[in-house]
Amino acid sequence: MPEFPSILTEIAGINIAELANRHGTPLFVYDAAMIRRRIADLKEFDAIRYAQKALSNLAILDLCRREGVLVDAVSAGEIRRALTAGYSPHGNPPPIVYTADIFDREALELVVERGIHVNCGSPDMIEQLGEHAAGRDITLRINPGFGHGHSQKTNTGGEQSKHGIWHAELDDCLQQVDRLGLSVSGLHMHIGSGTDLEHLAQVCGALEAAALHVGRSITSISAGGGLPTPYRATDQPVDLGAYYRLWDATRQKLQMEFGHPVRLEIEPGRYLSAECGYLISEIRAIKRMGNNTFYLVDAGFNNLARPILYGAYHPMSIVPADGAKQRPLMDVVVGGPLCESGDIFTQTEGGFVCTRSLPQAKIGELLVIECAGAYGFVMGSNYNSKPLAAELLIDGGEAMVVRERQTFDDIIRGEVIPRTHV
Ligand SMILES: *Cc1c(COP(=O)(O)O)cnc(C)c1O
Repeated sequence: MPEFPSILTEIAGINIAELANRHGTPLFVYDAAMIRRRIADLKEFDAIRYAQKALSNLAILDLCRREGVLVDAVSAGEIRRALTAGYSPHGNPPPIVYTADIFDREALELVVERGIHVNCGSPDMIEQLGEHAAGRDITLRINPGFGHGHSQKTNTGGEQSKHGIWHAELDDCLQQVDRLGLSVSGLHMHIGSGTDLEHLAQVCGALEAAALHVGRSITSISAGGGLPTPYRATDQPVDLGAYYRLWDATRQKLQMEFGHPVRLEIEPGRYLSAECGYLISEIRAIKRMGNNTFYLVDAGFNNLARPILYGAYHPMSIVPADGAKQRPLMDVVVGGPLCESGDIFTQTEGGFVCTRSLPQAKIGELLVIECAGAYGFVMGSNYNSKPLAAELLIDGGEAMVVRERQTFDDIIRGEVIPRTHV
C-alpha cells in the first residue's frame, strides 16, 4: 500500500526506479507473492484451474504449476505454453483443459495427438472430436440462457453470447455423444456472476439441473471464471466464503444424487493475475490543452488495452525521482504515445476522457499503472511498430527477466519486400 495516495517507490521490496533504469520502460513487473496469496484464497475448491489467457507468460504458468494449480487453454498456442511450462498433457484431474467454442485445425490435431481434455462449447466441436477420438470423455460448456458481465463485450451467457452449448440443445448433444462413442464427465458454466450472489444462485441452479439431466457420468463441475478484482478502493470485494458455499451446496446435491464424489473446480484468470501486475512507464511530456493537463507516458494501448477497450479503471501512482513522500495533487489526463486519440488511460466506457487526481510530476519521472497483470501484456500489440514490453517477475526478493523486450528485428521478422518487379 502506498504511504501517500498515488506515491509508489517499491514493488515487493524492490526499488522501482532501479528496475526502470536497468530494464527500460514500458515494463511489466509481476509480484509472485501476490499470485500465491490469491491462489491461497481459493484453497477450498478441489481444483483451481488458471485461465492463462489473462497472463500467459511461461514463468507465471510455471509458478502456478508448482503451486498445484491446473490450467485452462483456449488455443493451440496456450496448450503448447502449458506443455512448455511443464504441465502433463493428461491425468486425473486433467492438468490441461482446452475450452473453446471451435477447434481450429491446429488445436484439433493437438488435442487428439496429445490426449488433451476438451471442454466443448459447441455441438460441432463434439462432432469433430468424436470423428478423431472416439472413446474419450469430454466436458460440456453450457450456456444457461442468461448472462452477466461487466460490459457487453464480456457478457458470457444468454442469446447474445457466442459461448457454450445452448441449454435447450443439451439433449441433442447427449445423443450425439452416444452416437460418437464419447462420454460426458463434467459440466462447465462460465457466466461471470462476480459479486452478485443472487445471480450466482441462479447459475448454480441451472448447472445442477443440467447435471441431473446428464446423469451419473458426471464427476466434475466447474464454476468457470469471472471472480472480480477490486480495481478501485470503493469496489466491493467478492465474498469468497458465500461464493464457495453456493457451489459446494450444488456439488453436494449432485454427490447425493449420483452416489460418487464430484470435483468442484474454479477457473479464475483475472482473480489470480490482476493485482500482481504493474506497468511502469516514463512521463515524456506534460502539456496543457485548455483546462486539461496531460501526462504523456511511453506506454500506450499497445501495452495495456483495457482502458480503450472497456473504459477500464486502473489505479496509478507516481514514483518521485527525489524520493518525496508526498506531493500536491492535481487533476490530469494520462495518455500514451500512439497516433490515435483514444490512446488515453483515463477514460470511461464509451471513450469519454476523464481526469485523475495524481501527484504533480516532472518529465522523466515514472508513472505506474497498477492492477495491470490480467489482460495487460497478453493483449499487447506491435501497433505503431512498438516492441512488446519486457516482463519481470519478482520472487523471493529478486527481480528476474521473464521476457525480454522485443527488438526491431523481432517486429519485422517474417516480413518480405517482394523482388518480383525489379
Ligand atoms: C476468460 C475465461 C476465464 C477467466 O475469466 P476471468 O474473468 O479472468 O476470471 C475462465 N474460463 C473461461 C472459459 C474463459 O474463457
